[in-house]
Amino acid sequence: MGIKTVYEDCDILVVGGGMGGTGAAYEARYWGRDMKIIVAEKANIDRSGAVAQGLYAINCYMGTQWGENNPEDHVRYARNDLMGLVREDLAFDMARHVDSAVHKFEDWGLPFMKSAETGQYLREGKWQIMIHGESYKPIVADAARKSADKIYNRIMVTHLLMDESRDNRVGGAVGFNCRTGDYHVFRAKAVIVAAGGASHIFKPRSVGEGMGRTWYAPWSSGSAYALSIQAGAKMTQMENRIVLARFKDGYGPVGAYFLHLKTYTQNAYGNEYETTWYEDTKALVGEYIDHQPTPTCLRNHAFIQEMKAGRGPIYMVTKEAFQDPHLEEVGWENFLGMTVSQAVVWASQDIDPKYTNPELTTSEPYVMGSHATCSGAWCSGPEDLSPEEYFWGYNRMMTVDGLFGAGDAVGGTAHAFSSGSFTEGRLAAKAAVKYINDLKDEKINVTDKQVDDFKEEIYQPLDNYKIGRNEIVGGTVSPSYLLPIQGLQRLEKVMDEYVGGISVNYMTNDKMLERGIELLDIMEEDFEHIGAEDLHQLMRAWELKHRLLTSQSVAQHTMFREETRWPGYYYRGDHMQLDDDNWHCLTLSRRDPETREWTMEKAPVYHLVD
Ligand SMILES: Cc1cc2nc3c(=O)[nH]c(=O)nc-3n(C[C@H](O)[C@H](O)[C@H](O)COP(=O)(O)OP(=O)(O)OC[C@H]3O[C@@H](n4cnc5c(N)ncnc54)[C@H](O)[C@@H]3O)c2cc1C
Repeated sequence: MGIKTVYEDCDILVVGGGMGGTGAAYEARYWGRDMKIIVAEKANIDRSGAVAQGLYAINCYMGTQWGENNPEDHVRYARNDLMGLVREDLAFDMARHVDSAVHKFEDWGLPFMKSAETGQYLREGKWQIMIHGESYKPIVADAARKSADKIYNRIMVTHLLMDESRDNRVGGAVGFNCRTGDYHVFRAKAVIVAAGGASHIFKPRSVGEGMGRTWYAPWSSGSAYALSIQAGAKMTQMENRIVLARFKDGYGPVGAYFLHLKTYTQNAYGNEYETTWYEDTKALVGEYIDHQPTPTCLRNHAFIQEMKAGRGPIYMVTKEAFQDPHLEEVGWENFLGMTVSQAVVWASQDIDPKYTNPELTTSEPYVMGSHATCSGAWCSGPEDLSPEEYFWGYNRMMTVDGLFGAGDAVGGTAHAFSSGSFTEGRLAAKAAVKYINDLKDEKINVTDKQVDDFKEEIYQPLDNYKIGRNEIVGGTVSPSYLLPIQGLQRLEKVMDEYVGGISVNYMTNDKMLERGIELLDIMEEDFEHIGAEDLHQLMRAWELKHRLLTSQSVAQHTMFREETRWPGYYYRGDHMQLDDDNWHCLTLSRRDPETREWTMEKAPVYHLVD
């Protein structure tokens, strides 16, 4: 078909204009005054990514200048929540810079709530500060727009290009415009991948007409992982998926409810239940259950056990707090600035939290590196902090030269959240500018063949549909192609049943994983036959392929770690105990781009903070 090809040669290409990507574009301009900086974004940068709808709290702010927290404190906090396993160099590096990013948000016009007593940012919890955050994303998008040479909206980036004059070096990226269908070729000296985490790899609780509702953004398709994996980058902690206790059916956030409204949970019979499971949890994880605050996965574990024991639903007790008109207002506003759909669900189900305690549920698992878990690419840390195994020249550079990550893309940096992801984008961009300066005049070599081969592969689903559609007279079931939605449901089912989703109460074992991995491999062959009816479905087809690769990585990692490190996130039935003797380490994987074989290894966890 006659597809127009649009070429763009640049110094830095930022893939994904979410929190990490906007931070990267902003900082790249600061250090690279004369550099050409391009952003390629799948949606529209003004309202894209996990913060599209806004947020009610910035979850990562030290407040060091007010004597509130130091970066070391945050490392201890994240390490504790992740049962001992984080990249402490990356976590410290983010934490020491995050406050300055938050101050910029205020300078750029983001309205912050202030404490009436001190005049300082209003704290929701030890790490969170409250904002009127509906405009959060357009504000950071504006900073990126003023910094980049060009923002390309509606570009689904499908593959990274590799430099053909040097081994293992990135050379840019390719993708297509989801509206015009144009083929876009970005040749770049450095690429910063900030394309977000992964929802919809496990079967969601909300299915059928509710399937668009997930906790993590439904459009987060694991591209940050898939793009990096395809290029041969090493990944870390991909088994460390997250499960969230949230308001039922709308996945509405609970942070402000616990921290600010001081609401609490109870079982169906009005009893506190977490202490019931203390001994049970101790038998699995030992002294970790005595840590303060209790790691999130262990609180989930108590929730899941209580439900299995037949004493659900679990309720959030809102009836008391909502008698206070101020707290009632905060409770509702919390959704309006961030998850409008939860308010709509309550309205549609006749739930007024002033009179009815709403139900909570545990979500399906998601994969991400910026919220409360650690999945992502294995990246170099900063030179002043990182031990030898964690440092190879440039901060946040993956194991592929010139390829950097930020936000969900980076592994090991849990609890970065929106502000930390933006900060990571800044750190990655500063290092990318240095990388390019160090290259001097060395050129990137990307041949036409590489570009043409990708073009053929990218548009194949359109041809699959066009040709295969002739074989059926109606309906959606074809002998020759699979629609993206059908493929998605097949993927979610396998991940759910074999890799520890909701329908098996997050349980898996070596045999289930073995079978799951086989089925995912078969799926990889089947997905060569995805059919796309139009450009929107072509985007869905590539999102699905990215989700599959992410899922394969999750399954491989889950198989490799022979312990249950995070009960409440998932369980290895054949290794139910946490095993610090053998598994107090980080897991690493690499998929060989040629053979598609996965290799796994362990990497040490260095405790840099006491
Ligand atoms: C429900 C929810 C609640 C949250 N609550 C809070 C909170 O209260 N406070 C807080 O501080 N943080 C919160 N977070 C966390 C915060 O939103 C994330 O940490 C942050 O957005 C991650 O940044 P990122 O750049 O990695 O991903 P994102 O911000 O999601 O950006 C990824 C970008 O990549 C684009 N993209 C994806 N695939 C492609 C592709 N193939 N090609 C091109 N572009 C692509 C996307 O469109 C998107 O713009 C919340 C997140 C969620 C989902």
